[in-house]
Amino acid sequence: MSKKELSRRDFLKGAAGAAGIAALGVLAGCSDKAPEATATPGEKSLYVPGEYKATAKGAVGTVMVAMTFSESAITDVVLNLDAETENIGQAAGEELKAALMAKQGAEIDAVAGATLTSKAVMEAANKCIQQAKGEIPVEVIGGTAAETGPANWLGVEPEISDIAETWNTDFLIVGAGNGGLCAGAYAAKNGVKFRIIEKGTATARVRGWYGVCDSEDALALGEKPMDRAAMRNELKRFSSGKTNLKLWDTWFNESAAMHKFVKDCYAQYLPDAKVTVTVGDEAHWPDEDTGRYFFPVEEHFWGFGEMGRNDIFRKIIEEEAGVPIDFNTTLVKLEKTGNKVTGVIAQNTESGKYIRINASKGVLLACGGYPYNPDMMEQLDPQGTAVTANNNGWPTDTGDGIKAGVWAGAAMQAEAAPMLFDRGIIAPGVDAGYHVTETGDRVFPSPEGQFNIGSQPFLKVNRHGVRFTNESGTYDMMSYAAYNQPGGVYAIVFDDNFFDDVQRFHTIGCSAGTRNGSKERTVEMLEGQIQKGNAFKADTLEELADKMGFTGVDKENFLATCARYNELYENQEDVDFGKPTYRLSALKQGPFYSFWMGACLLTTEQGLLCDEKARVLNADREPMEGLYVCGDNAGGFFVNNYPCLMAGIAMGRNMTFAIKAVKVATGKDD
Ligand SMILES: Cc1cc2nc3c(=O)[nH]c(=O)nc-3n(C[C@H](O)[C@H](O)[C@H](O)COP(=O)(O)OP(=O)(O)OC[C@H]3O[C@@H](n4cnc5c(N)ncnc54)[C@H](O)[C@@H]3O)c2cc1C
Repeated sequence: MSKKELSRRDFLKGAAGAAGIAALGVLAGCSDKAPEATATPGEKSLYVPGEYKATAKGAVGTVMVAMTFSESAITDVVLNLDAETENIGQAAGEELKAALMAKQGAEIDAVAGATLTSKAVMEAANKCIQQAKGEIPVEVIGGTAAETGPANWLGVEPEISDIAETWNTDFLIVGAGNGGLCAGAYAAKNGVKFRIIEKGTATARVRGWYGVCDSEDALALGEKPMDRAAMRNELKRFSSGKTNLKLWDTWFNESAAMHKFVKDCYAQYLPDAKVTVTVGDEAHWPDEDTGRYFFPVEEHFWGFGEMGRNDIFRKIIEEEAGVPIDFNTTLVKLEKTGNKVTGVIAQNTESGKYIRINASKGVLLACGGYPYNPDMMEQLDPQGTAVTANNNGWPTDTGDGIKAGVWAGAAMQAEAAPMLFDRGIIAPGVDAGYHVTETGDRVFPSPEGQFNIGSQPFLKVNRHGVRFTNESGTYDMMSYAAYNQPGGVYAIVFDDNFFDDVQRFHTIGCSAGTRNGSKERTVEMLEGQIQKGNAFKADTLEELADKMGFTGVDKENFLATCARYNELYENQEDVDFGKPTYRLSALKQGPFYSFWMGACLLTTEQGLLCDEKARVLNADREPMEGLYVCGDNAGGFFVNNYPCLMAGIAMGRNMTFAIKAVKVATGKDD
């Protein structure tokens, strides 16, 4: 039975089903009922007893509230927050439910950090109360996803006439995320008159590691200058010739200066912070693989202290330049005079008022990708969508900047390039891809986030117990291979020697987290997933097969696959799929472990085409005057594929182009 089926049926049972759903970790409600309140004899009834449901638009998807009423009281509340983010909106569920019960009404305080979800819960709760009082008709909740139709993700550019305010600035940055804040800090340090609008209530979470070419710190560690010719060839091969190598020149030539800028900002605000630069053996696959994946990285990381890079940038913007970030202000559309982009129309998400923002020197689109836009995901990236188990992206990144750019005449990268990491643990029997919630929202089924050991190249089998690929590759390759398998999922299998195997595998980037951690820590995390029913441990492979749910021929297949894998290991050659010998491992020493997996979606990299000066290109591939782009809002750089093993390259490109855009727009590019 899939989680989707269970969630829907149990929710329809109302409060009685809530405990079961909550146990699956997808419903933020619980079923502890308030004492039954009864009307005093002769007292007028407040409510028509029964259960009422209502929905409202939350931070990400639709929020549903089901309330049960006696004649005089609210006796139970169940919240369905499946479509909200797991660690923000869903996490607020218990507190919101308790508040509604205690208040016996909908006028409660918002949970800090989850304002939009809280407001939606209040709105839906108020509608339940009005239904119970007979003030409005009983709401009928539909249970199927909205029909998206063919390629309708773009929609139509809205016509807006009721402008309430006009702001004037030189340079407008749209999005206070990782690219936008870097651009803002650079603008602040260089005396540019600018503003930043941000749709959400906070800045986006910092993405810590960034890739640089030949930084002063990497060279000081003895790293040789990057072999740019070899690198260009590898990037061309890896993208099947689809990447724009001119964009890479900007990164090759200017990322070291970007790092110097970041370093100077740290020196000012956190003088004791030291950058860690990953170079040498730690940044490369072992020699046996040289030539297979040539992705030298110089990954730079400042640690996760109390103050992160984005906090420093924000201080520079707000305190040094005196420019407060305009939160709750969303880009609606771009404005043009002739072919020149002159500004935007934005909307205050609280008041609903429209604002015209004129930007005489240009607009920088820094609003991220589209991981939280189900129409864009399904229509632009059906394969990535089908194999995704968990959405690990930033919830307000819904492709708004891409849509606004295309409406204004910008060209867009034709192919998807999602950032898929092969470490989304998923409950047995659950398919990857969107599941439809009770409210008709499409959500990825696993709430578990990234489970790091999943990226290790151990034996991986499909639902019939059969091995289907060489498990060694960039993170997304395993996920793409699963597209051809039942449910888009697969199981990893390893034995008690896993920690020694992982040392030999020597994977790099963030997957090195398992190698550089401890065996005890990984076992602890596995035990946690075993408790949840998501992972399995057994003394024999036969017992493991049973726990994984293999029966009949599938069980025979699984045991035969394990025996064959041991044979390949003993012969030290993978004649079946050509995996490098040092990445083979034995399945001999119990206990044996396994869990099912799909991909974690971090973000999308299919954005607006631009040139090496961060200028957005139009349909004729000519720069559009006044429009710039950086980060996941930008395309042309990662095409066909995201080179996951070139660790930190997404942020390296993002901040390099953020700075470039400010320079070019303000005439400071040399
Ligand atoms: C969990 C995770 C970890 C990652 N770690 C790394 C890492 O260590 N190194 C690395 O290189 N990459 C990493 N990435 C990828 C990296 O974050 C992205 O590739 C990218 O660089 C993010 O920056 P951005 O500025 O494009 O988007 P974001 O940082 O997501 O910022 C976009 C901002 O725009 C706002 N916005 C959206 N729509 C609108 C609108 N209509 N109006 C106004 N504002 C809007 C959003 O609210 C958001 O604040 C990670 C991604 C994830 C999800």
